[in-house]
Amino acid sequence: MKKEEMLSNPRVTIDAIKKYDFTFQKKFGQNFLIDDHVIDKIIAAAEITKDDTVLEIGPGMGNLTQHLAENAGKVYAVEIDKKLIPILSETLSSFDNVEIVNGDILKTDIAELTGGARLKIVANLPYYITTPIIMSLLENHVPAESITVMVQKEVADRMAASPGTKDYGALSLAVQYYTEPYLAANVPPNCFIPRPNVGSAVIRMKIHDKPPVEVKDEKLMFSLIKASFGERRKTLQNGINNFPDLDISKEEVAEALRTMGLDELIRGEKLSLAQFAELADVLYDNSK
Ligand code: SAM
Repeated sequence: MKKEEMLSNPRVTIDAIKKYDFTFQKKFGQNFLIDDHVIDKIIAAAEITKDDTVLEIGPGMGNLTQHLAENAGKVYAVEIDKKLIPILSETLSSFDNVEIVNGDILKTDIAELTGGARLKIVANLPYYITTPIIMSLLENHVPAESITVMVQKEVADRMAASPGTKDYGALSLAVQYYTEPYLAANVPPNCFIPRPNVGSAVIRMKIHDKPPVEVKDEKLMFSLIKASFGERRKTLQNGINNFPDLDISKEEVAEALRTMGLDELIRGEKLSLAQFAELADVLYDNSK
């Protein structure tokens, strides 16, 4: 496909919107990418080659999909908005390696859809459900080697944040437990139609073969993390004690923190991933 005929050319997207009489649905977080350079950066960050099977979440009209189809072996594109499906059939008609699926990614059995292939997941994510999508991909151990996504800049900063910083929280810890995040590009609002109100960024997450820390009970560790960041100004003791899913007293937390050589009144935002894993192991052992 000639570059000037692709939807990443703003004129082609504007013409397509008119031709199909398409109206943007705010509830689906629709902001289409109209910048070749940004798309090139996404493809490069995801290291897409003809050997790859790609899962695209939310293809929209196909702006990114056309480039993925040119570079990958196979592309599965899952789009929630049924009005976009006939449009995608036309904008992707010159490619025979794209499978368009009408559905909600949060309700899609990805392994079944893609036949268990090891995936590279790529998306310009709908911002209203960025975190649920990322968490569901990570927690369900989707068969992927990397996830490369456009997200709000502020969310990208939270994903890559270090302990003790203002952006550090449950999302940073989950992303860093399962993956190695890398901020590939900052993207201004004028690269989209319509323009979002916020800055965006491309983040690539390489999924670890093995998490960087070992923990006896992964679920307990993530419950402790959620409890610790539920109310930021609370001490770890109070956060954990008040968390409905956990039956752990303040004294048990204090004792575990003493065992670890930490201040009893420490807040969760000061603990590294390794320290959360250690805390989970100490509490796990003490409960036996
Ligand atoms: N990939 C296109 C592009 O870059 O131009 C569109 C990106 S737009 C930010 C997000 C897309 O995700 C929209 O097409 C929207 O309809 C779709 N979407 C929103 N929620 C979804 C969901 N739960 N499952 C699948 N697609 C979804």
